[in-house]
Amino acid sequence: MGLPTIVIAGAGQAGYQTAASLRQEGYDGRIVLIGDEPGLPYQRPPLSKAYLLGKVQAGALRFRQAEWYEQNRVERVEARITAINRTAHSVTLADSRTLPYDHLVLALGARNRVPAVPGITLDGVFGIRTLADADALSLRLAEIKRVVVIGAGFIGLEFAAVAAARGIQVDVLEIGTRPMARALSEPMSAAFDAAHRGWGVRLHYGQALHSVLGEGGRATGVRTTRGELIAADLVVYGIGVVPNVELAIQAGLAVDNGVRVDALLQTEDPAISAIGDLVNFPSPWAAQPIRLESVQNAVDQARAVAARLAGQPATPYTALPWFWTDQGDMKLQIAGLSEGYDTTVLLGDTAARQFSVLCFRAGKLIAVESCNRPADHMAARKLLARHTDLAAAQVTEPGFDLKAFEAATRPQA
Ligand code: FAD
Repeated sequence: MGLPTIVIAGAGQAGYQTAASLRQEGYDGRIVLIGDEPGLPYQRPPLSKAYLLGKVQAGALRFRQAEWYEQNRVERVEARITAINRTAHSVTLADSRTLPYDHLVLALGARNRVPAVPGITLDGVFGIRTLADADALSLRLAEIKRVVVIGAGFIGLEFAAVAAARGIQVDVLEIGTRPMARALSEPMSAAFDAAHRGWGVRLHYGQALHSVLGEGGRATGVRTTRGELIAADLVVYGIGVVPNVELAIQAGLAVDNGVRVDALLQTEDPAISAIGDLVNFPSPWAAQPIRLESVQNAVDQARAVAARLAGQPATPYTALPWFWTDQGDMKLQIAGLSEGYDTTVLLGDTAARQFSVLCFRAGKLIAVESCNRPADHMAARKLLARHTDLAAAQVTEPGFDLKAFEAATRPQA
């Protein structure tokens, strides 16, 4: 009998990384990477940033060129998976082909949540998830003057910063009271609110999209839930994503805000693992199982599953979550999860846009948000990962430096 076949469902960040890491781990069996997007697998982060500014071309978004897949014997299949047959150990494709697996890795990601309002299907309304979305949007950006962005989350605000830099009038509607509230502390939200206003972005809090208005099939503006009318040539929404769980549900796997996996990233079917934006997993960094949408999460989970499938001892997945976003001249890097913080301490110079916010909960450091302070971010990742004690009072002492503190508390080899 030959080596087992590993089928990877979804050829995005997590799917590609699983294939690459399997080979790095010395796995010699068959690898089939199935994705429904056209072309070679690519990274998404630049789609709402440098790509829309024309600073990065599509080719540079690819993880690898075609030869890499051949050389590494990663069989790419461009097709939509329509069913998982757990008894037969196979997946069915849209063209009715079936492909057998010994182990199946679900890396199906998520799709944009679409606002359920009148006018949402008008021409000129966009979400940004895929290269195709970004290409279509990019063409429009060249010819418009006003855009309304729905949602002041990471992607909405990254896009807002790009549009403002291109001289477009930007209005942002946000149902909450501050930007990126789901992921950021209040002081960091406030800094981004001020920065966007400085770039000329108009932020409207406490109101959502009521409807998209149009003429001749094309969007001409929006009505907010407060009845305000805002004219626009383009409407871009970024109100979160929905994990692509349908195949898992149909296959009878447990789903609850994502496919449920254990600490080894296995579903209840020992022949099926799941990773990336798709999964709800237990994390030592969160009180409840959590679903994260980040490159770090997709890459580290892919590596963990690949190591296990390549025969390494199975160990629980415990990687520290970290994230980043680029908006205008602000590069924000976040280590840890700030949810439930009770105290924050600011380090650095907010006026110079080089500062960090350290977030504490019950006296324990839980997250560090660094704006244009990469050294703080790197130090924070190490400090958090090794659970180093650091009190808020220490940080407020004159001359405190996070990088120096990390070096001073580093365990001796
Ligand atoms: P995906 O990359 O979405 O891949 C899933 C793939 O599966 C997709 O290609 C999908 O089409 C395919 N698929 C789904 N269903 C099927 C099916 N039935 N059959 C076949 N294929 C299927 N993260 C950061 O950390 N920093 C950032 O700055 C950042 N910026 C971002 C900007 C944008 C515009 C977007 C959209 C995301 C950004 N992210 C960022 C998030 C990051 O890109 C995702 O967390 C990451 O791509 C998740 O990887 P994944 O493999 O789980 O999902």
